[in-house]
Amino acid sequence: MSKEKSSRPSWDEYFLKLAMLVSERATCPRMHCGCVLVRDKQILATGYNGSIPGDVHCEDVGCYVVDNHCIRTIHGEMNALLQCSRHAVSTDGATAYVTNMPCTNCAKALIVAGIKRIVVFSDYHATEAEEFLEIAKVELCRLKVPEKMINYDLDSYSSAVKFEDKKEDESAHDGCCG
Ligand SMILES: [Zn+2]
Ligand SMILES: [Zn+2]
Repeated sequence: MSKEKSSRPSWDEYFLKLAMLVSERATCPRMHCGCVLVRDKQILATGYNGSIPGDVHCEDVGCYVVDNHCIRTIHGEMNALLQCSRHAVSTDGATAYVTNMPCTNCAKALIVAGIKRIVVFSDYHATEAEEFLEIAKVELCRLKVPEKMINYDLDSYSSAVKFEDKKEDESAHDGCCG
């Protein structure tokens, strides 16, 4: 295998890496979780743990802790499932790529939503998820943390044209990326 070939991520690594990227939008400092729901190598929805629409964010005002859990945020897996619900997308038979082992409630929700495989790269402090996943015969795969680097090397691509010739105030700050 050539060096270039081996740096290309597998499908599982690809979707886990996307879950990591999704988790960057999380708003609760106690946990940053990202979830990508996939069927037939197509992304159905993504979700991260964040507040309900209109609410404040934990990272701005502190967590809302009850019984040692922050109850302000909806978990990433739930947000991804609810996106599907909102847009009438079936999750039957799909795979959930999650940065960490789902909590018990998210695991149960994923099961009932028809998720057949869950891929994670880290555990979660307190969860009975595995017990329920076993009962429901949902496959659980613990994979290594994907390489954190996003390998996009503009300089090495001969067809790439850089923006560097543009004046700085025209490029990054032109108001099109808000
Ligand atoms: Zn919080
Ligand atoms: Zn959860």
